Amino acid sequence: MGIIKILPENLINQIAAGEVIERPSSVLKELVENSLDAGAEEVEVDFSKGGKEFISVKDNGSGMDSEDILLCIERHATSKISKFEDLFKINTLGFRGEALPSIASVSKTIILTSRDGKEGYKLEIEGGKVKEFEPFFHPKGTTIIVKNLFFNVPARKKFLRSDGTEKKYFFKVFNNFVLSFPNVSFKLKENGKVLLNFEKREREEERFLEVYGEDLKDYIEIKEKMERDMNFKMILIRGNIPVPPPNIKQLFLNRRAVWERLLYKYISEKYPKSSWVLFLKIPPEFVDVNIHPAKAEVKFQEPSKIISLFEVEEKSIFYLPIERPSIPSPEKNNLLVQETLQIPEEKYNFRFLSQISGTFLLFEEEKGLIILDPHAAHERILFESLMEKRKEKQYLITPLILEINLEEREEFREMEENLKEMGFEIDLAGEKMLKISSTPLLFEPAQALYFIKQILNNRKKGNMEERIISSLACRKALWFSRILREEEALKLYYDLKKCKEPNFCPHGRPTFIKFSEEKLLKLFERQTKK
Ligand code: ADP
Ligand code: MG
Repeated sequence: MGIIKILPENLINQIAAGEVIERPSSVLKELVENSLDAGAEEVEVDFSKGGKEFISVKDNGSGMDSEDILLCIERHATSKISKFEDLFKINTLGFRGEALPSIASVSKTIILTSRDGKEGYKLEIEGGKVKEFEPFFHPKGTTIIVKNLFFNVPARKKFLRSDGTEKKYFFKVFNNFVLSFPNVSFKLKENGKVLLNFEKREREEERFLEVYGEDLKDYIEIKEKMERDMNFKMILIRGNIPVPPPNIKQLFLNRRAVWERLLYKYISEKYPKSSWVLFLKIPPEFVDVNIHPAKAEVKFQEPSKIISLFEVEEKSIFYLPIERPSIPSPEKNNLLVQETLQIPEEKYNFRFLSQISGTFLLFEEEKGLIILDPHAAHERILFESLMEKRKEKQYLITPLILEINLEEREEFREMEENLKEMGFEIDLAGEKMLKISSTPLLFEPAQALYFIKQILNNRKKGNMEERIISSLACRKALWFSRILREEEALKLYYDLKKCKEPNFCPHGRPTFIKFSEEKLLKLFERQTKK
């Protein structure tokens, strides 16, 4: 007898769920996509424990009738395409008919829906099996509740991260919808308590500022281009602005948050170190959205055509009229200049030779040559002195207020203790604001804001305190290319030599390179002295 058998439907769904549903945020993505496809103008999301315990998405879209509510949890059941050609002109966010059966197979799902606010239904599914189906009152639209994700797939459940981390993924997905659908109102609740409320807006940039902070208003550049069937709008924030830039580089293709390699590369090269959101609209047949199960990656049929849309764009670009305040020069914080140099000449056992190409410093020491990177060296010196002074703090007469978004708020919660230890006294003031009443003595208030924002957006983990201090040292350190006076150069090397770990900057880059006399002799193929 043969050993091959057809897998039961439910197992197939659980396998498919492995591709589409990775974590609570993927459930959120699929549910909100369905709401938007159903023409919803209002979407309300509620969740608990980072979405692991409970997610609900309520909309005022088309709703489903008694037949559709039963069909929607069948595999490959969709109202969005019906023939092969449709695949090449997809105008909806969903089309594979996979999400609901996948979600329902790995959770306890409840669907409440009505097409007219009169006749409504409730369907309960547990691990893919229908438990209950009955008439039920619901206003026009649909509510889908997903409880205990992966309750029946312990192996998957194990891979979920802490509630806080899952929440960050969840917020990211939520924010993307908020940005891309300004004409839809969104409400976000956690355990029934409203966290955020986004009213309907006309323009994407209004939403952008609501999400990432009104203080960015003066720094956003809008680039737009309208062509017959292709258009784009780009919200761009260049690096080097006095307020902390948000941590976002996001492409929305036909309103879907996606990744596309060539375009990302192109934009990153054209606008390095910038934050950007690009809303690109092109005819659906120009793009293949069916190369990734969760539709997170797309492929352009003719990438060059898309890129060329941007090539000519510099001429047709229009800027928001903005006045740029001057950026505070880091040289102001130059400790070297402020301090008087009181090192007796004879203490040096090295000699300053020169500075080359306006950057590297050359010294002679023990007949060898030292090449020193002034920025890295200064960073190391500051880092060590900051580590020593880190516990001193200053109280501010007027507390500073910093606007934050949801992801930053989560990050803040995780880092609160570390920041406190450093001398920051910070409280959440409402959902989107931090109130800073004290900072480490080493900060000027404006720097403190920039710094906190930067820290909240720096995803790299590791020793938090060191990370914070090394980033502070980096900001305060001398510019890499700045001409130094002889006494500054001498003091720099002198101070570096006093450090505990003089050889590397806090990021691990070398501070200096040494060619000893012996090495030089060897390089010139001379006999080395013994
Ligand atoms: P897809 O979105 O790819 O069609 P799904 O499994 O996500 O597949 O959904 C299956 C079908 O269920 C959809 O095609 C749609 O007809 C229906 N549906 C799902 N969610 C909603 C909703 N919120 N409002 C109305 N119809 C919905
Ligand atoms: Mg869908």
